Amino acid sequence: MPRRKSSDPVEKALQVLPWPALILRPEGTILSANRAAGVLLDRAPAKLRMKNIKELAWPDEGPKLNRLLAGEDGPSIEGVRMLTPGGRDIRVRIGLAGPPPEGDGGRLLAVISPLPSGGVSRDSRPAPASEARWDWDRAEGRVTCSPEWCSLLGYEEDEAPKTLRAWVDLLHADDQPVFQYKLEALLSGEAPDLEHELRMRHADGEYRWLLTQVEVVRDSAGKAARLSGRQRELGEEPGLEEGAFAEGFRDPLTGLPTRALLLDRLGLAMARARRRTGHLFAILSLGLDRFRLINEGLGYAVGDRLLQEVARRLEGCRRGSDTVARTGGDEIGILLDDIRSVGDATAFAERLHQALKAPVVVEGHDLFTSGSVGIVLSSPSYNSAEDMLRDADIAMHRAKGMGRGRYALFDATMYIRTVEILELETELRRAVEQSGFHLHYQPIVSLLTGRLAGFEALIRWTHPTRGLVKPSEFVPLAEETGLVVPMGRWVLESACKQLKSWLVRFPQNRSLWVSVNVSGIQLLQPELIMQIDLALRESGLAGRNLKLELTESVIMENAQYAYDMMVQLRAQDIRLCIDDFGTGYSSMSYLRRYPVDALKIDQSFVSRMEEDEESREIVRSVLQMGKSLKMEVIAEGVETVGQRDVLKRLGCELGQGFFFHRPMEAKAVESLLAPKRSR
Ligand code: C2E
Ligand code: MG
Ligand code: MG
Repeated sequence: MPRRKSSDPVEKALQVLPWPALILRPEGTILSANRAAGVLLDRAPAKLRMKNIKELAWPDEGPKLNRLLAGEDGPSIEGVRMLTPGGRDIRVRIGLAGPPPEGDGGRLLAVISPLPSGGVSRDSRPAPASEARWDWDRAEGRVTCSPEWCSLLGYEEDEAPKTLRAWVDLLHADDQPVFQYKLEALLSGEAPDLEHELRMRHADGEYRWLLTQVEVVRDSAGKAARLSGRQRELGEEPGLEEGAFAEGFRDPLTGLPTRALLLDRLGLAMARARRRTGHLFAILSLGLDRFRLINEGLGYAVGDRLLQEVARRLEGCRRGSDTVARTGGDEIGILLDDIRSVGDATAFAERLHQALKAPVVVEGHDLFTSGSVGIVLSSPSYNSAEDMLRDADIAMHRAKGMGRGRYALFDATMYIRTVEILELETELRRAVEQSGFHLHYQPIVSLLTGRLAGFEALIRWTHPTRGLVKPSEFVPLAEETGLVVPMGRWVLESACKQLKSWLVRFPQNRSLWVSVNVSGIQLLQPELIMQIDLALRESGLAGRNLKLELTESVIMENAQYAYDMMVQLRAQDIRLCIDDFGTGYSSMSYLRRYPVDALKIDQSFVSRMEEDEESREIVRSVLQMGKSLKMEVIAEGVETVGQRDVLKRLGCELGQGFFFHRPMEAKAVESLLAPKRSR
């Protein structure tokens, strides 16, 4: 195995990048190419190595490439003509992903996107229906129609309308008044652009539904000098009918514009920004957090209803000139046209978060949802709407990684982070398949007697090159990708088997239990009950020796469903525990209704308890609450003798933390279990 290669993170990142990409030295030498680049450039990736990128382009592109490498032309260049051995001539955009990482020998990551004539498109969606353009020049009073326009409407070039009046006359009589009204608003500057679905007479005498977009070009005095229109066929009926949806402009589920339409409007906004200096706009990508959890846990019908409601709320945040579109399964793209500053875009992101705060009620489920938002501001370095939207998606995934309900502004270094996450996901998948995990056990002890009461099982991943990876780095990713389900099954089975074997070998510890962390997506799997049943039966462990740790947010987000699951689990004699208690937002009255046996006071309170009055009060009230609800209370993260003493004084019975024991290998636990003999 070529070890040198696989341990280099930049190299590995390159190999999982889904776009054609190269690692370059500052002078252009290709150090490495991925498979996608090989396919695009028609050469085996190994054959590209040590060539200079300039050798792969037409000779007259040299100066352009030099300026890119020197950072003189911004982070990307457009329309570079590359040569392939097969004689194909392709045009590409080359973007450099961020400044070279410090101390990395100045390596650059270059991402190559083929431009449309290159014949390779990343987007496999059907292209929108034929596009036709027309242009009106005020000074000349003339309309010019493109050949596509003529063929769309069946006219010979000399039959096409020559004046604006003649053009408007082709509109269906019912559509003329509104169109004229909108046109006036556009010319006077009241409306930034015009979009209208209207009927126009084809040469065959029939009317065709066309999506019509018109932009205005102003002279230096701000007077409308030209109109530039584009039209596309919509199908039979606009708006509500399937026909229009089929053309790909409206999403049938939510009624929102589609990705194709958003890209189109984004393209128009870019064109406008090029003409008007200072014109700023932003594209936002919103991904619903843990949507998968709802879709897979509660069914697609519930997921669909949630999407519809979310779409409705987001539409409500929009100003007239903005576009809110459904760009993917659970993704919404928003074009904020004409903003004053980045502050407008972040304030809008906040508004979106607010709009999603209240729960959505679907079939009796209170669904708490939130969205992560990625933001990209318009910049002259973008030439393609696709690129801008892709960067908004990257920023959105970054926002997801920061926790739920957040937003992130795009910056080029995110490319590198994105490939790292992709890479981690691939390896996590492998770890799930090949059981690359093991469990540590952290003892939970009685504060009164110091005796061992139980354990918490904590997952550990030994990564082939990084070594031990902490759960905080991979559990959220496992949740996002659904890998937490097979991973969780493995944890349950291993923990049950392990405890059973200890109980058999050290029978004096009969009442010991093991706590297993269960994440939201697991709780929403109806199979969880079966999985647990199987884990218990195969290991021979009794239900009462197993505890499950759930977090408040998981319960609150899926209140009814979580309740049903908890009741079923309780029926199997399994005890339920609320982890990280105090950090969520459950209220006492809420909790009382749930079959909960134990509360774990979050370590943040325990660690501040001695100095901070408020934390101590929280600990005290959780203990009181536990007492009145007849729930066990466990203090997490006990690190000092002082903390132990305060807890004891407040009447806490159980504790877990480094002061007693760190999480340990199963082997090390045995010395704690063996009967103590007096020396
Ligand atoms: P958690 O369930 O709240 O687990 C307690 C965490 O606190 C553990 O971190 C433990 O090592 C750490 N800890 C224990 N005592 C002390 C102390 O005295 N001081 C400090 N500073 N920390 C202490 P760990 O093992 O890194 O796990 C982090 C989180 O990852 C867990 O938080 C849990 O939410 C999640 N997790 C761990 N294992 C699993 C698993 O098998 N499945 C799932 N779904 N999540 C898991
Ligand atoms: Mg826990
Ligand atoms: Mg905890």
